[in-house]
Amino acid sequence: MNLKSPFTVDIGKLLNQSVDRIDLNLKGNISGIESRNCAVLPDRDILVLVVIERIRRGVICQGTVRSFWDGECSRCLEHASVGMQIDFKELFVTDPDIETEYELIGDKINFIPLVSELLIVELPLIPLCKVTCKGLCQVCGVNLNMGSCSC
Ligand SMILES: [Zn+2]
Ligand SMILES: [Zn+2]
Repeated sequence: MNLKSPFTVDIGKLLNQSVDRIDLNLKGNISGIESRNCAVLPDRDILVLVVIERIRRGVICQGTVRSFWDGECSRCLEHASVGMQIDFKELFVTDPDIETEYELIGDKINFIPLVSELLIVELPLIPLCKVTCKGLCQVCGVNLNMGSCSC
């Protein structure tokens, strides 16, 4: 685990009961978040707002991930850069059920696997610059978002 990663968090204070919850505002980059049509670029900021609370088996993390995907709009073929916001609530425990839970290693949480998964699932199969994109004229190829044509 990369201990310098902004997404690796020490929760020792929570586990030894010095505090009841930890509120965090994390920001960093993660590479490899991509699908066939679009990606969260490796230098694109990813923001994670999370509240961590203790439960008997570990901790529960609840929060929001924000970033942008970049890709080519499948209607107008222009470059698109569109915001994503994903809410999550996940358990981090020492003996995880790998289907539904994440691993708590010592007193540290590595948020990269969770954040990567959330963002990859959110990447659109058919990227659009905006839901109302008018696309290109099938005849002359004019970008109908920019104006109309005489076809
Ligand atoms: Zn478009
Ligand atoms: Zn036309």
